[in-house]
Amino acid sequence: MKRFEPPQRTLMGPGPSDVHPRVTAALARPTIGHLDPEFVIMMDEIKEGLRSVFQTTNAMTFPISAPGSAGMEACFVNLVEPGDTVVVCQNGAFGGRMKENVERAGGAPVMVTAEWGKPIDCKEVEEVLKATPQAKILAFVHAETSTGVENNAKDLCALARAHDCLSIVDAVTSIAGIPVKVDDWQADAVYAGTQKCLSCPPGLSPVTFSDRALETVKIRKTKVQSWFLDLNLLMGYWEGDGARTYHHTAPVNALYGLHESLVMLFEEGLEASWTRHERMHQALVAGLEAMGLELLVDPQSRLPQLNAVMIPDGVDEARVRQRLLQAYNIEIGAGLGALAGKVWRIGLMGHSARLTNIMACLGALENTLASLQAPIRTGMALSAAEAALD
Ligand SMILES: *Cc1c(COP(=O)(O)O)cnc(C)c1O
Repeated sequence: MKRFEPPQRTLMGPGPSDVHPRVTAALARPTIGHLDPEFVIMMDEIKEGLRSVFQTTNAMTFPISAPGSAGMEACFVNLVEPGDTVVVCQNGAFGGRMKENVERAGGAPVMVTAEWGKPIDCKEVEEVLKATPQAKILAFVHAETSTGVENNAKDLCALARAHDCLSIVDAVTSIAGIPVKVDDWQADAVYAGTQKCLSCPPGLSPVTFSDRALETVKIRKTKVQSWFLDLNLLMGYWEGDGARTYHHTAPVNALYGLHESLVMLFEEGLEASWTRHERMHQALVAGLEAMGLELLVDPQSRLPQLNAVMIPDGVDEARVRQRLLQAYNIEIGAGLGALAGKVWRIGLMGHSARLTNIMACLGALENTLASLQAPIRTGMALSAAEAALD
C-alpha cells in the first residue's frame, strides 16, 4: 500500500462541507486516554458548548460517537417502543428514513407528506394529530437537505406539545446554519451532525434530550434494542460527576476537532454564523439568477445552507458536476429521489459559506454551462453576487 493523498477539493454539496484548517490541525493533536482527567474536562466543555449551540439547558446534551444517522437512530430506538404510534412528516429523503426507523423499532408510523421542495403544512399535521390521539411522538426534519426546504420547527414542536406528544427533530443540516432553539421550541429529542454547518469532518452526532424525553426512556417497558445507543447506558458515560463508567472508547481526536470548531463558532458568534449563512446564500442566489438559473424552493422556505438549483433544459447534469470536480476541484450535489436529474444541490455550510467559494462556484458553473451551449446569460453572475453583499 502507498500513502493516500486526497485531492484538495472545495466542498459545496450537501455535506461534508469544507473543514476549517484549525479543525484539521486539532485532529492531529496527541491522543490521550478517554478517561484521562484532562480529556474529561474537554468532554465537559464540549457538552457545555453544544448546549449553547442547541440553545438549551438540557443536561443530556452530548455527541454520539457516530454520524448523524446514528443520532437519528438514538432518538428513535430510545423513545419508540413496540406498538407506539409516531406521526412522521416527510417532504424529502430524510423524512423517509425516520419512517424506516419507526418501523424497525416496532412502532407504527402515520405519515404526513408534502411534495419534495415544499414545506410540511402545519394545518395538516394538526388534523392528523387530532385524528390520532394515541400518537406518542411527532417527528420531522428541520432542514431537509435533499430539497433545500426549511420546515417550521417552532410551530411543529408547539403542535406536538399541544397534543401531548414528544417531538423528534432532525437538525443535522440546520445546526449553526439557521436558528435551532431547543428550549424556546420545547423540543424533546434533537440530533445534529458535525460535517454540515459546524466545519468539522463527518462522524459525530451531537444530540440533546429534554427531561421529558429522558423520563420516557426511564419508564420503558422493554429494553432499548440497541446496546450502543441505549441512553440509560450512555448517561453513565457522559453524565456523572467524575465517576464515568466505561461504555465505549470515545473517538478522542474527532472530539478535539469538534471542540475546536465550537471554539471557532463562539469566536464568530452563533448569531453571526446564522447571518453569514444568510448573506452568502443571498450572494449565491443573486449570481445564479443573474445567469438565468432558478431555485426550486420558494424564498420563504429556502434554506440558506442548501440551494436546490433547477437544471436548465437539455443540460447533461452529471457532465456538469463531473466537469466542476475534475477541472475546478469543486464538488456540488446531485438531486435525490424525486429530484434526481432535476436539480443540483449547492451547499453553503460552515466553512464553505464564504465569498471565495461562491465566486469559484459561480465562475466554474458559468464557464461549464456556456461551453455546453446551455441557455444562460454570461458575464454578470460575479458582479451580481458581489452587489448582493452591499
Ligand atoms: C446528512 C444528513 C443526515 C445524515 O447524517 P450522516 O452524518 O450522513 O449520517 C441526516 N439528516 C439530514 C437532514 C442530513 O442532511
